[in-house]
Amino acid sequence: MDALIVTGGAGFIGSSFVRHLLRETTDRVVVLDKLTYAGSLANLDEVENDSRYRFVRGDIGNRELIRRLLEEHRPWAVVNLAAETHVDRSIDAPRDFLESNVLGAYELLDACRAHFEQLTDRERERFRVLHVSTDEVYGSLGSTGLFTEQTAYAPNSPYAASKAAADHFVRAYHETYRLPTLLTNCSNNYGPRQFPEKLIPLMILNLLEARDLPIYGDGGNVRDWLFVEDHCAGLLLTLRRGQPGRSYNIGGGNERTNLQIVDTLCRLIEQLAPAADNPRMAERGRRNYSELKVFVPDRKGHDRRYAIDAARIHSELGWQPQHDFDLGLQATVQWYLQNREWCDRVQQQGGYQRERLGLGERQ
Ligand code: NAD
Repeated sequence: MDALIVTGGAGFIGSSFVRHLLRETTDRVVVLDKLTYAGSLANLDEVENDSRYRFVRGDIGNRELIRRLLEEHRPWAVVNLAAETHVDRSIDAPRDFLESNVLGAYELLDACRAHFEQLTDRERERFRVLHVSTDEVYGSLGSTGLFTEQTAYAPNSPYAASKAAADHFVRAYHETYRLPTLLTNCSNNYGPRQFPEKLIPLMILNLLEARDLPIYGDGGNVRDWLFVEDHCAGLLLTLRRGQPGRSYNIGGGNERTNLQIVDTLCRLIEQLAPAADNPRMAERGRRNYSELKVFVPDRKGHDRRYAIDAARIHSELGWQPQHDFDLGLQATVQWYLQNREWCDRVQQQGGYQRERLGLGERQ
């Protein structure tokens, strides 16, 4: 039976990708994850009894561990989703981002190179290393225009800089060693199991608990949102049909300001858990969820707008998003409402209480 190694598989996108692979292929899936504050086995509970799934706790920077896993499983693909991912945390503690996103990615890539070099010709033909990256490497757009694969890299946050550095190594490993790499740069994902530090789950949980809804700056920053399952479908398609050495932008074409997202969530929560029935709202003397909005000092170096041109992956690989944004957001809100135990568990495990991060109190 064929195998894949998925790093970062206990995180938000990684766990969704693992479920996608087990559903859409007959392959075995070996997850390697360090279980940082953002990773949890609770994200993989639906697959834990699947005989094709195996979990290994470890760091992508652990060269010897990677070597052993490659030798033992002889995967046809390695997909790297392991990373530190929160921009605000990268402002407070950039070193963690260098360690996992740059040095870790390098160790993984170089271990794949060494493994690739001793494969048979047939195995080499099929072998792929897919590195999952972000649109944030391109920097910020003005009010018009889209990021294409030709857009020059101009990362503005330590997170984006660390992802950009790894992307350059991925490219270099293809050019220099002919390692069959694939690179994807995706826009903001949303969906179930996203750690509550990120905008959408943070706002959902704060709404349910009648806590303030902190909006950075004027709330006018624009992101292009994509349902996580659409991203995962794009990743599998890229693995199967992508051309080694090439990069693919993935995006949903759903541009929204942060303020629009918060207003939509206020409306959705009002429908599903009305403010009038929420005892926390009464305790705070608030009648409408929108009264919880608070404008707070902006994130340092906050990119104004991201938007993706996904024409390449559409025309070359036949990918297009299947999920309507409003329906996807509604399903996401419903998932958080029905999974309060998961929310409590990951916040407790991650030592996170939805406090403001990224004010530059360097650790
Ligand atoms: P996440 O923070 O939810 O999960 C990251 C996972 O990686 C966690 O399970 C964590 O334990 C693991 N991890 C971190 N460092 C590790 C290390 N050194 N070794 C092994 N495991 C480690 O992140 P996510 O949102 O699922 O993002 C996954 C990938 O997709 C990242 O590379 C991110 O840059 C990229 N991406 C994310 C988005 C998004 O909107 N979330 C958009 C585009 C690209």
